[in-house]
Amino acid sequence: MRYLILSDMHSNMTALAAVLSAAEGKWDKAVCLGDIAGYGPDPNETIDRIRSLGAIVIRGNHDKASCGVTDAEDFNPVARQAALWTRRQLRPANLEYLATLRPGPMEVEGFSIAHGSPGDEDEYIFTPEQAREALRRASSAITFIGHTHIQGGFALRENNIESLHLKPSAEGASAVLRIEPGAKYLLNPGSVGQPRDGDARAAFVTADLPTQTVEFWRVSYDIGAVQKRMRDAQMPESLVSRLAVGR
Ligand code: ZN
Repeated sequence: MRYLILSDMHSNMTALAAVLSAAEGKWDKAVCLGDIAGYGPDPNETIDRIRSLGAIVIRGNHDKASCGVTDAEDFNPVARQAALWTRRQLRPANLEYLATLRPGPMEVEGFSIAHGSPGDEDEYIFTPEQAREALRRASSAITFIGHTHIQGGFALRENNIESLHLKPSAEGASAVLRIEPGAKYLLNPGSVGQPRDGDARAAFVTADLPTQTVEFWRVSYDIGAVQKRMRDAQMPESLVSRLAVGR
């Protein structure tokens, strides 16, 4: 089974369309690590498209805030503004869909998925030390996580933790990770709709687990078109401008 792993779409339909086009023919089953909604201008379209994939989906913190499962009180002011805007835009069926999404972590065939970390759906894993602690609690050799919007991840061998820098340089090329027996991995596909690792291109992963190969991809999309829709909707300028720099 070849998996398409998507995370942090954040209501950016143009980026999601570019990812699905680039990934065409490369996967059999889609997996979504959460944050379908929040920040971007296209919440209904993005949810509709994810639903049409028949994907395995867990919720992210912005999905919870966008549908009212949580209030957005712990969000920074622009994130809160975007979550409340999203809540007003969502069709009732999509509000209901977000409200019924399951929390991670979740076991899929031979690997696990979580929005934040294997122990806590809302925890951020930025540093090797955080990753080492999280991997101690991980039940599977491979856990795919999102939440930080940073493509790459960490490998734990014995007690040695290593940061994995997996960022494809060229369009249409992937950075390939071969899974080693005995090692444990936290792998982040990066964000489809709001990358924060300094590369503005949309990010995703394909995983062919029978061959123990995980490929990290980046694809360009029309950022200006998304920014225009955000400005038309009077969304906060800091959310608009960050898309162009991938921060
Ligand atoms: Zn996110």
